[in-house]
Amino acid sequence: MISIEKSSQTKIDKTDFDNLTFGQVFTDHMMISDFKDGEWHEPVIKPYGPLSIDPSARVFHYGQAVFEGMKAYKDKDEKIWMFRPEQNFERINASSKRLAIPEFPKDFFFNGLETLLKLEKDWIKQGFGNSLYIRPFVIATEAGVSASPAKEYKFMIICSPAQSYYSGEVRVKFSDKFSRAADGGVGFAKAAGNYGAQFYPTNLAKEEGYQQIVWTDANSHEYLEEAGTMNIFFRIGDKLITAPISDRILDGVTRKSVIALAERMNIPMEVRKVTVQEILEAADSGNLKEMFGSGTATVINPITGFGNKGKNYDLPKLEDSYAHAFKDTLMKIQYNEAEDPFGWRYEVKE
Ligand SMILES: *Cc1c(COP(=O)(O)O)cnc(C)c1O
Repeated sequence: MISIEKSSQTKIDKTDFDNLTFGQVFTDHMMISDFKDGEWHEPVIKPYGPLSIDPSARVFHYGQAVFEGMKAYKDKDEKIWMFRPEQNFERINASSKRLAIPEFPKDFFFNGLETLLKLEKDWIKQGFGNSLYIRPFVIATEAGVSASPAKEYKFMIICSPAQSYYSGEVRVKFSDKFSRAADGGVGFAKAAGNYGAQFYPTNLAKEEGYQQIVWTDANSHEYLEEAGTMNIFFRIGDKLITAPISDRILDGVTRKSVIALAERMNIPMEVRKVTVQEILEAADSGNLKEMFGSGTATVINPITGFGNKGKNYDLPKLEDSYAHAFKDTLMKIQYNEAEDPFGWRYEVKE
């Protein structure tokens, strides 16, 4: 049994669920587990609030920090669902391993997470597009600035109510200078530092009128790899193409779900390297039909145009886009409004 210390107050009445900014409001409770004396301790649930951490803790100096992003949904019968949560569990441990952080036990993860979700169930609103965004993370808390892995950590889960947000126009810039990941590096891990390193180049791209950067490989900048913090898909003619997973590309749950759905929907799908050159040629010949990003936050994010070395390209507006078909199919599975042939839904049972 996980110990629960209940919050004496709730913020739910003060929360405007019709006007949520992504990731700004957090629910009343959080899950914490400590790694101490060589092992993870049973998680506890506490009122959401600040932590007290020694200023010399490794997380502040050496960035020993990893995280995950997942969602919980409520269907028409008030049942609560998650989408492929075992994938996030496995991935946070893969990320941890790369950052020399001890792996977290599966029963602690699922018991802690499900206990927290049941306690916060009123924060999960019904309706297509409403969800509770779940942010598990691990930080190195041991005091001391010696450059070595910490012996103490915290594994925590916090939750934030979210609406499906229509990201609007997303124009992207193909990166010809900056990179987000290197061979043998941490690009495949959801390491906090990967995000910190993206902010500056993304700001520069924003000044040029783009919302995101499409990251290219660090060696040649000839291969297109990820769109901002999403995986990226290209449609040339009727064919869908995405880059293969590598140590530079994050193995997105949405990405692998789209690949599986494409097969089921009889959409020709190629998982292979994508060159800047072929995308420019396809755009010039009119064969480039779509580009879209995939990720838990927006599910599928259509890209309306891109820039390469100062030249801008617009993508056509399609009535019957793959992006729309994937988003609709995936969301219906997530909200228990459609068959789930792959067994992706996971019920959080009372
Ligand atoms: C989280 C993330 C994704 C998307 O992964 P999902 O599991 O689909 O949410 C893609 N790329 C990067 C760099 C990410 O951090």
